[in-house]
Amino acid sequence: MSRCRTSVVGAGAMGCGIAHVFALHGHPVHLVDVSPTALERALLSIRRNLDRQGVAQPEDVLHRIVSFSDLHEAVARADLVIEAAPEDLALKQTVFTRLDAAAPPHAVLASNTSSISIASLASATARPERVIGMHFFNPVPVMKLVEVVRGPATSEATFEQVFRLARDLGKEPVEVRDAPGFVSNRVLMPMINEACRCVMEGVASPESVDKVMTLGMRHPMGPLALADFIGLDVCLSIMEVLYEGLDDDRYRPCALLREMVDAGRLGRKSGRGFYDYEAAS
Ligand code: NAD
Repeated sequence: MSRCRTSVVGAGAMGCGIAHVFALHGHPVHLVDVSPTALERALLSIRRNLDRQGVAQPEDVLHRIVSFSDLHEAVARADLVIEAAPEDLALKQTVFTRLDAAAPPHAVLASNTSSISIASLASATARPERVIGMHFFNPVPVMKLVEVVRGPATSEATFEQVFRLARDLGKEPVEVRDAPGFVSNRVLMPMINEACRCVMEGVASPESVDKVMTLGMRHPMGPLALADFIGLDVCLSIMEVLYEGLDDDRYRPCALLREMVDAGRLGRKSGRGFYDYEAAS
């Protein structure tokens, strides 16, 4: 696909990064969000990140991004739609039904979901062969990986188109099947969950657990610092998807993780998680 008219649904952390990368590679982008504030913030943040990357003509890149508050208008001429709305099954299904009605018949509908099954999103449309997962990582302009998730009905043509496009964007796509947590979260989240258990059982403090993993395993960040960065609520909901989907006790969310989420200790975004961030913010 040389010039791909791309619509990005949701201008939060991920939608903003996805719009940035597509526009940087010459694709016209329609960015749509229900919140005008989110759209404003996204454009400011893209501008800042382009400057940070040292892009020579940031205005040219920004000109390729047009923001919309109306979903129908935003996708009416799209070749590809990437949904990056909140991680909520009912909400995403509603969005996919609306996208199916509003986007041209040839358009591919992709989701950036971290854990929801592509099959459940495809079933909300009449074009399951053109529904696929395109799972980017945060921050999108920096992180190379894209998990390209084949749903059970995804056609070969759709898969190849998206896989090639991810490569053309300078990413390293990896093919994965539509299974709970795909590969990234199926491997990462149980490690975070186990780190929580170590703290809960008094095996070690959060600092010590993280030190073991950074110094001993050369992880760039300890699992608990990473959990705070991702958001403990997000970690808990992904563990729940794994526990339910894989039906195995080893994925049971750690009780401490649940208690912390119930108490509003969500990590960086709430100022407190395994570590304290209030002083820094
Ligand atoms: P976010 O909360 O930062 O952004 C979501 C945006 O969607 C918000 O701006 C919200 O106003 C908007 N929105 C809500 N309902 C909408 C609708 N009906 N139509 C259009 N916009 C709507 O979320 P995020 O962190 O960017 O995550 C988005 C998706 O990406 C989720 O599925 C998440 O699981 C996935 N993801 C997140 C990360 C991460 O590290 N944050 C990494 C990979 C994948």
